[in-house]
Amino acid sequence: MNQTLPLPKHVDVAIIGGGITGIATAYHLSAQGASVAVFEKGTLACEQSSRNWGWVRTLLRDVVEVPLAVRAGTLWRDLQSKIDVGFRASGILYLAKSRQDMHAYSQWLARAGLTDARMLDADAARAMLPLTSVDWEGALYSPSDGVAEPGIATRAIAELARRKGCCIHEHCAVRGLQSSGSRVTGVWTEHGPVQAGAVLLAGGAWSRLFSGNLGIELPQLKVRASVLRATAPSTPMDVTVNGKDFTCRREADGNYVVSQFNASYADIVPDSLRLLRHYLPSWLGNNGLVKLRFGHEFFRALRVPRRFDTQAVTPFEQQRMLNPSPAPATASALTKLQHAFPAFRDSRILDMWSGYIDVMPDALPVMDHVDACPGLYIATGFSGHGFGIGPAVGEAMAQLIDQRMPSVDLGPFSLSRFS
Ligand SMILES: Cc1cc2nc3c(=O)[nH]c(=O)nc-3n(C[C@H](O)[C@H](O)[C@H](O)COP(=O)(O)OP(=O)(O)OC[C@H]3O[C@@H](n4cnc5c(N)ncnc54)[C@H](O)[C@@H]3O)c2cc1C
Repeated sequence: MNQTLPLPKHVDVAIIGGGITGIATAYHLSAQGASVAVFEKGTLACEQSSRNWGWVRTLLRDVVEVPLAVRAGTLWRDLQSKIDVGFRASGILYLAKSRQDMHAYSQWLARAGLTDARMLDADAARAMLPLTSVDWEGALYSPSDGVAEPGIATRAIAELARRKGCCIHEHCAVRGLQSSGSRVTGVWTEHGPVQAGAVLLAGGAWSRLFSGNLGIELPQLKVRASVLRATAPSTPMDVTVNGKDFTCRREADGNYVVSQFNASYADIVPDSLRLLRHYLPSWLGNNGLVKLRFGHEFFRALRVPRRFDTQAVTPFEQQRMLNPSPAPATASALTKLQHAFPAFRDSRILDMWSGYIDVMPDALPVMDHVDACPGLYIATGFSGHGFGIGPAVGEAMAQLIDQRMPSVDLGPFSLSRFS
């Protein structure tokens, strides 16, 4: 799985991006018998797909995403039966601090139509969390939601895809597309051309830059989110918890991934101004969850060319991996967790990291074909929740590319909703 693998001359499907979206699609297409090549400019899952919290949840999604999330739960279990992706149905609890929280959760639950999620009153929440020192008002709980391990999952699914014949090329950026008229006929990689019957752009936070070079407008921005890893508490807690201002989940090795809700930053860049009309409503209404910042990132982004030639080095080779530094506020997530769960009193921070989330104005992904470029498909903009649904996204995109009816309705994820 590296750049020394000779490039194929022709494949049925070329996939741009080796995160969970590209790899899960490659797995499903390969299992259907298609010849598939994945091109990743860095290493597999080097960006969002290895940096996330690892939550696999149906809870509190936009309800149009719930069918994908339910299907993903089945597919994670199926994957885990084939190879270790770290999937565990730990259960997920969204804790409520107030009656308003309880009201909002129960309203969502009534619309979501889930069969096993339920509201817990204060006593039931306390019974589930004997280690807490807070008098929670109650909780929204799903016993079948859980976690998978971002550190291994995408590579493990890639291994399954490879066993079905998929070629995976790391350190191999795609610079642009080959076409005949408007019809896409392949990709130009940094190591040469590959013909393809169809191309999927699953480039995460790079998708706007790539599609912009083709004249396709994708109103996508980046948000920086930070995470820490802490050592285990004196008494382990298995259930995955959102405590309103912190989150925490147990890893396979017993450590905990902890984060804070208001430690995400959106750097103001030239694209923020270009896309102002799309984002202003969400910026005004986000209640401080994402902080806007103006600084050197504006001037760095200004230097990135928006148009480039496929025969010369592109921005995709100049920056193989987005690796932003964690926000200074990240460490306070542990303090908040310790306040709510004193058993974490002696936990130490082992590691902190950050990742750029590919956001869309309505926080929903684009999963669609591109009318203007027959043969081109896009799956991107998962807005901070694409890991958990990744296997179902891969299945649905494989069905779409294979000209079959996707098993979930992709209507809400059309590209045309922004035009
Ligand atoms: C801190 C954090 C916490 C999160 N927590 C969760 C969570 O708990 N649950 C959840 O469901 N989601 C979570 N997410 C979101 C989730 O990680 C993403 O939605 C998901 O990983 C997106 O996968 P992807 O494959 O679409 O994108 P990515 O994983 O970003 O992969 C895109 C890949 O494309 C490559 N690429 C781009 N352009 C090119 C090119 N031209 N040529 C070749 N390769 C290219 C990139 O190098 C990259 O590896 C979180 C994200 C972050 C950052």
